[in-house]
Amino acid sequence: MPRPTTDILIGGQWRPGAGDPAETVDPASGQILATVRGASVEDVDEAARAAARAAADPAWRALLPHRRARLLHRIAELVEDAADDLARTQTADTGKALAETRALALSAAATFRYTAAALETAEDAITPSRGDYLTMSVHEPIGVVAAVNPWNSPVASDAQKLAPALAAGNAVLLKPAAWTPLVSLALGRLITRALDEHGLPRALLSVLPGKGSVVGDAVVNHPLVGRIGFTGGTATGRAIAAVAARRLVPASLELGGKSPTIVRADADIPQALAGVMYGIFSSSGQSCIAGSRLFVAREIQEEFVGALVERVRKLRVGPGTAPGTQVGPLVHHRHRDTVAAYVDLAREEGGRVLCGGAAPEGEAYRDGAYYLPTVIDGLPHTARVCQEEIFGPVLIALPYDDEDDLVRQANSTVYGLACGIWTRDHRAAWRLARRIDAGTVWINTYKQFSISTPFSGMKDSGLGTEKGRDAIRAYQRQKSLYWAASDAPLPWAG
Ligand code: NAD
Repeated sequence: MPRPTTDILIGGQWRPGAGDPAETVDPASGQILATVRGASVEDVDEAARAAARAAADPAWRALLPHRRARLLHRIAELVEDAADDLARTQTADTGKALAETRALALSAAATFRYTAAALETAEDAITPSRGDYLTMSVHEPIGVVAAVNPWNSPVASDAQKLAPALAAGNAVLLKPAAWTPLVSLALGRLITRALDEHGLPRALLSVLPGKGSVVGDAVVNHPLVGRIGFTGGTATGRAIAAVAARRLVPASLELGGKSPTIVRADADIPQALAGVMYGIFSSSGQSCIAGSRLFVAREIQEEFVGALVERVRKLRVGPGTAPGTQVGPLVHHRHRDTVAAYVDLAREEGGRVLCGGAAPEGEAYRDGAYYLPTVIDGLPHTARVCQEEIFGPVLIALPYDDEDDLVRQANSTVYGLACGIWTRDHRAAWRLARRIDAGTVWINTYKQFSISTPFSGMKDSGLGTEKGRDAIRAYQRQKSLYWAASDAPLPWAG
C-alpha cells in the first residue's frame, strides 16, 4: 500500500491542516496508520472562499454538460484503476473485509459513470404557458455545497454525494469522519488529477478531515455553503437540520436505522438463514441498513434461531486482509466498547445471549477491535436494545404471532430505513412491504443496491433522497423564466 499522506486538500492545495492532529488506526492490529493534521476553522473558511471562486469560474460555470460528464467519466476511470489501492486503504482504516471494500470502490466508480450518463440525458423543460409567454424551467448550480459523511463506507458515500454535486455544477467541501479520513483523501487525489487534466479549478473539491464538532460545524455553518448533504447518526442529523433551518439552506439527511428482517413460516429457510446472517453480520453490523431485529413466525422460531446460531458460530472472524474473513474488526476500540455495553444492557434487560457476547479469545485478536457475532433472544420489542441502533454485530431475535402483531412490533421504533422479508407467498410479501415503515424493502434478498434506485429513510432515518436520476437535481436550484411572446400592452402601460 502506498504511504498514506498526511496532507489534506484545502481550496485546491495539498498541505497539512492547521487543526488538531489525529491518529488514524488500523482496527485489526491497533497500529497507527497515519497522523492527519485536520482542518482548522480558518482552513474551512479558506476552502469555502476558494470553492466559491471555483464555482463561479467561467471555465467551470460555462462548461457544457457533456464536458462535465467527461470529467465524471475520467474520475470513474481513475477510481476503477485504483480500486485495489482504495480497497486496501479502506480496509486498513475501517477493518472491513477486502472483498467488501473492493466492491465499494468499484461501486464508487459506477456512481460517477451513472451520474455522467444521467447528466448527459438531463433536460430542462419548456412548460405549457397560460398566457402569451414562453415559459420554461431551468436548473442552476447552487454554488458551494457541503458533503458530510460517516466512517462506515467512506468511498461509496463520498461518491454518492460528490458525483451529483459536481455533475450539477457545484464546488464541494467534503468532510470525512474523523476516524477514517484516508480513503476520502485518496479519492481527493484522484479527483484533483482529473480536474488538472481537464484544466479545471482544483478548488472545486476540498477534503477537510477533523472533529465533527469543530470542522463539520464550521462547514455546515459557513455562509457560502448553500446546501448540506449529510449521512450519519440521527442526533447529528437533527443538529444539522437545525442549522439548515436557521440558515434556510436545503439539507438531505441519511440517518440511522434499526431495520427489521422478517422470516415467515413459508420462507425458503436455507436462503433466509444466509440472508439474515449477511444482513446483520457483513461489515460487522456497522451498516445503517443492517437487519438488526429478526422477527420470526412463532411456529418456526425455535428451530430457525437454533439453526441460525449454529451457523453464526462458524462465521470466520479475522482481519479484513485475510482471505476468507467474513467478519472483520469494528472500526475502533471505542466503538467496540459501545457495542459491548449494549450487550451488557441486553443481559440486564433479561436477554439470553445465544452466541457471541464477547470479544474473541486468542493471540490473533489481542490488539484488534474484534467482537464476536452475537445473537440474543428473550427480550420484548420495547427493550432498549430492540429500539436503539447498536451499529455492531448484534442481532436480536423476536417471535411474532400474526401479521398485525408483526407490523406493530416492526414499526415500533423511531427508525424507518430498511426491511427484509423472507417468504414464498408473493401476496404476503406485497402486503408487508407496503405496511412496514422503511425507505427500502428487500424481498428474498438483503443489502443489494442499484445506483439507479433512489435511497431514503422514513421517520428518524432521514429526510430527502440520494441516488437515482434525480440526485443531480437535489444539488441544483430551479428557476422559472417567463418570456413575453406578444406585444399586448401591460396593465399599467398607460
Ligand atoms: P456521526 O453522526 O457521529 O458523524 C457523521 C459525520 O458528521 C462525521 O463526519 C462527523 O465528524 C460529522 N459531525 C459530527 N458532529 C457534527 C456537527 N455538529 N456538525 C457537522 N458535522 C458533524 O455518525 P458516525 O458515527 O460517523 O456514523 C454512524 C452513523 O451513520 C450511524 O447512525 C449510521 O446509521 C449512520 N449512517 C447512515 C447511513 C444512511 O444512508 N442512512 C449510511 C451510513 C451510516
